[in-house]
Order: sequence, then C-alpha cells, then structure tokens
Amino acid sequence: MPAYINEIFNSLQGEGPYAGMRQVFVRFEKCQLHCSYCDTPQTHEISGSCRIETKPGSGKFSCITTPLQSEYVSDMIGKLWTNSTKHVSLTGGEPLLHADFIKTLDIEYPLYLETNSGFPEKAREIKDIIAIAACDIKLPEHDCTDHYSELLKNEIKTISILNETAKTFVKVIIMPETTKESLSFAIEGVRSIDKNIPFILQPVTSKNRISSSLLFELMDFAGEKLKDVRAIPQTHKMMNLL
Ligand code: SF4
Repeated sequence: MPAYINEIFNSLQGEGPYAGMRQVFVRFEKCQLHCSYCDTPQTHEISGSCRIETKPGSGKFSCITTPLQSEYVSDMIGKLWTNSTKHVSLTGGEPLLHADFIKTLDIEYPLYLETNSGFPEKAREIKDIIAIAACDIKLPEHDCTDHYSELLKNEIKTISILNETAKTFVKVIIMPETTKESLSFAIEGVRSIDKNIPFILQPVTSKNRISSSLLFELMDFAGEKLKDVRAIPQTHKMMNLL
C-alpha cells in the first residue's frame, strides 16, 4: 500500500527527551486536527510530491511524485542513515493515519513515532514495532478540534496502548493562555496510566513567549501528581535546522 509522504531527510530530533539525537525523518501527509500553532501546515493536504534529501544532513533535496511505495521509502531511509543516526522518526501530519503503510516498512532501525495520539486502534496495530512513542496531549486553547473531550479520551487510550510496549513520553505545548485548569485534564490522564511517564511541557515557539513564572507554576502543578515533569523547548528551531 503506497503512502503520501511530504519529505524524507536526516536531521536532529529537536523536541522532548531525545533532543539532539540524529534521526531520519519521514514526514507523512494528512492530519485530522488543525492546531493553531502547527508548524507543518504543508502536510495537512495531499501535495502530490515528496522532497527527499539527496545526502544526509545536506539540506539539498530532489522531488518525486507521490504516493510512494514502501520498498522505495525503506530504501531511501537506508540511504539517509549515518553512523550517528539512532532512529527513524515517523512524523507528520499524523503518522498513525498511515499505520498500514508503516507495518510494511522493511527496515531494522528503531522506529520513533511522533503522534497527536488521536487514533488508539491504529496505535494498537503498530505498537509492537515502535521503540519510542512521543505522544501529544492537546489542550483546549490549541483550538485543534471541535470535539475536544473525544480527542482527549482517544489520546489517553493511545498513550496507554503505546506505553505497554514502547518507551513512551507525553508532550504538551504550553501557550501564554494555558492555565492550571486547562492542563489538569492532561495531568490526570497521564496519572491514570502511570505517573512515571515523562511529561514534557514544551513552550510554544512564537513571538508571544510564555513567562518563566507561568512555566514554573505549571511545572509545579503537574509535579503534584506526576514524577517526571520537564520543560524542553524546540531546540532544532534554535539551530535553524529542519
Ligand atoms: S497534530 Fe501536529 S500536524 Fe496536526 S495540526 Fe496539530 S501540530 Fe499540525
């Protein structure tokens, strides 16, 4: 089964506890959400073409028409792998929309799934082949859906499923509008699974920076219920990387 992929390249993971690790990124197209802060809006619709880095880390690309076959994508991942590369990041868009394709990838490298956590049944289909799961929990102020309660329920279920087999952490984007109340549902959801799951607060990358006092207040609030609360910004943006 072919898939619509937007780009394949080698760079540094810029988010969460694995920031700084080299990865081959496979960025899938399509997403069921519309987060106000989305930094990959080009993936929301099918573009019909994929850019593929010609040499690992070069930032130079060639373009190919999509959809792409699994054998071709597996081959490209192998060509973009380097000695210091650690994982294949399945990102998007929403990679779980392509679970059937992911199952057919013929590679032995560890898979790092970056998901908005909205599809528990798709997560169940691929959980056994995922080494690391980076799971978002969205907040009401992200304005990503008209059905927030349903999304939250699915997110908690997805995290619970992936946490059975993969090293799992949760990432929550913090905005200037974020309050203890809006964050509380995410905290309770993670606590209901396992209070030791790393809970990463990621300040939104925008001109409107959140204050350190708000960040510390939210960290302490989460720390009342969870054991591993951290604040990590998007480091690849600081280095001007993809
Ligand atoms: S889930 Fe990710 S790709 Fe989808 S709209 Fe939100 S930030 Fe963008």
